[in-house]
Amino acid sequence: MDRVVIVGASAGGLAAAETLRGQGYCGTITLVGDETHLPYDRPPLSKQILSGEWDTDRLPLRARGDIEALGLDLRLGRTAIGVNVQDRSVTLADGEMVGYNALVVATGVRPRRLPGGDGVRGVHVIRTLDNAVALREQLRTARRIVVVGAGFIGAEAASVARGLGLSVTMLEPAPVPLAHAVGEDVGRALTQAHRGHGVDLRTGVMVREILSRDGEVTGVALADGTVEPADIVVVGIGSHPNTEWLEGSGLPLDNGLVCDAFSEAAPGVYGVGDVARWYNPLFGTLMRIEHRTNAAEQGMAVARNLVCEGTRERRPFAPVPYFWSDQYDMRIQAYGHLRGHDEVVVVEGDLAARRFIAAYRQGEHLVGALAVGMPPRAVRSWRGAIAARREWTVIPARSPAGTAPAA
Ligand SMILES: Cc1cc2nc3c(=O)[nH]c(=O)nc-3n(C[C@H](O)[C@H](O)[C@H](O)COP(=O)(O)OP(=O)(O)OC[C@H]3O[C@@H](n4cnc5c(N)ncnc54)[C@H](O)[C@@H]3O)c2cc1C
Repeated sequence: MDRVVIVGASAGGLAAAETLRGQGYCGTITLVGDETHLPYDRPPLSKQILSGEWDTDRLPLRARGDIEALGLDLRLGRTAIGVNVQDRSVTLADGEMVGYNALVVATGVRPRRLPGGDGVRGVHVIRTLDNAVALREQLRTARRIVVVGAGFIGAEAASVARGLGLSVTMLEPAPVPLAHAVGEDVGRALTQAHRGHGVDLRTGVMVREILSRDGEVTGVALADGTVEPADIVVVGIGSHPNTEWLEGSGLPLDNGLVCDAFSEAAPGVYGVGDVARWYNPLFGTLMRIEHRTNAAEQGMAVARNLVCEGTRERRPFAPVPYFWSDQYDMRIQAYGHLRGHDEVVVVEGDLAARRFIAAYRQGEHLVGALAVGMPPRAVRSWRGAIAARREWTVIPARSPAGTAPAA
């Protein structure tokens, strides 16, 4: 195998490149990324970067020297616009065609936007370093911020803005924020944290469009005809997988690049990170996960399989997904696949005190655990039980509070 092309120079793409080298791969690794920065970490963008606690020089995933030591054919500021899976080549926006033996697609996602917001000063999404720096700059002088969407990124932005003393209104279409992801009771407990910190959180509210005058945002118009004034609007209403460049290639696209249990979408083409919707054999379902740890782990798993091709047996990628979020003084951590659960039980602590562990059941099995305000060790002990597909009958309410099941 002479050349691996990786498109997307971030957590997933870099992990794949590093692991290829770490496993002794000596061929060419072409890493293509449309941002001009060296690969950097995104979770701090809506936390330490936005609050000003960190400067941007803490963001790169690796020092320049470490990247250079990998001996990559690094193409930053270059965009892939197409792929020909028969010829095994990727086309870049300037017309260059790069041939590959294996292609790793790690192009992530981009934020959804609201009508009326394009090119308007004061309207922000948070996906890139440049996005976060622009928002941080404006937070210094703004007084009134409207956050559209109470998902994790919107919630983190609201929490930082309150910390900086701004007046914050958060608008969420669902009756209970995050209920689809973490369940109603847990979603309600997290909602209370915002209200307790002085956020005007309004649920069941649809935003119709962004309003502006002379290119400056003035507020948002709601579906009921009322207007919410603002000098900053942060839009956190979900994302689209970056797969347009793969259209027409014949690769399976459906809410991401659809991959099998080995993260393979077609012979020699692999999906990694936020853009990949792969079959996770542990849970017996396709999943697309927008979590930092998953992107790195999937990049490593794909690279290991590439290197051992034809020598050892390939291993399916069957992780217990993990994510965290920091809001106010709360650290939220979760293991497993919480969406589509049938039941949630608090097995330790107290929802109202926002210090608890909740366990999630789907069918007969434990499929997830979410903790707020608990030490990492206490939460980690649930990971093994989820990986072992522990039967629900030996779990929660029936075991003494605070006891994690044996893995
Ligand atoms: C503000 C924020 C906060 C977050 N907080 C958390 C958190 O607390 N916990 C957690 O678990 N996760 C968090 N995440 C999610 C985590 O950052 C992502 O899961 C992770 O970055 C995914 O990595 P990736 O490599 O798959 O994709 P990305 O990081 O999205 O990188 C994809 C790269 O590919 C580039 N690209 C796209 N299309 C092309 C193309 N055609 N050609 C060339 N390059 C292209 C993109 O510009 C980008 O640089 C957060 C994300 C954001 C944005």
